Amino acid sequence: MPTQAVLEVQALGRQFGGRQALRELSLRLEPGEILGLLGPNGAGKTTCLQMLAGQLAPSRGWVRILGLDLYGSPRAAKRRLGYLPERPPIYPDLRLGEYLHYCGRLRGLRDAGLRSAVAAVIRECGLETVSRRLLGRLSKGYRQRVGLAQALLHDPALLLLDEPGDGLDPLQSRELRALIRRRAERGCAVVFSSHRLDEVRHLCTSVLMLRDGRELYRGTLASGINTAPDSAQGTRVR
Ligand code: ATP
Repeated sequence: MPTQAVLEVQALGRQFGGRQALRELSLRLEPGEILGLLGPNGAGKTTCLQMLAGQLAPSRGWVRILGLDLYGSPRAAKRRLGYLPERPPIYPDLRLGEYLHYCGRLRGLRDAGLRSAVAAVIRECGLETVSRRLLGRLSKGYRQRVGLAQALLHDPALLLLDEPGDGLDPLQSRELRALIRRRAERGCAVVFSSHRLDEVRHLCTSVLMLRDGRELYRGTLASGINTAPDSAQGTRVR
């Protein structure tokens, strides 16, 4: 029996004024797949992720999460996804625990379920030592983990991460990749955007490269390749 796709996207596009930020993107992600969304600044990665997260209305096309129409039944569909934006909002005067309880309530978690979910993501993201600290006093690396913790809180089927490796040192980047891999092994589908090929090479099961809102390449990456899309294994899109 075919599995239910976690993410289905058909002819998704967005324009701002006369400018096409993303053109006609279609894709499908199964449980456990990790898609690297690659491209230079202005390629359309954030626009794409914002539409997949239900934060930005498309100009055309549709998105389904576990069969639920994201723009037709947004509440139900959004509960199945976790999103780490490129610039997560910062609440400097909240303590980590307070913030995660607040995020959990927004996603429909309550009482004992909420408390155990918060405790579990604090452990999973290595935040135990800062759980009582004000968010405004955390380093960039810890703030990224907090962003990830809020995205993972409700055990999403789809995880959308917009340049989560930005500003992390090599050890923090390795820990981030290990955490994402563990979630994928449990069946979570992941979209991970980056402008660094080396960052996604050992993590992603496939990549999609964008430039000027157009799909440039889609496929898998051969181990040992450097930067050229031509060295990757897959279909070049003209
Ligand atoms: P970066 O790596 O710098 O974040 P990106 O690949 O995420 O880049 P986007 O932020 O999606 O790219 O931008 C794609 C294009 O759409 C750019 O030309 C950008 O200027 C334009 N754009 C994005 N958001 C808006 C907006 N709200 N209004 C007008 N133009 C926008």
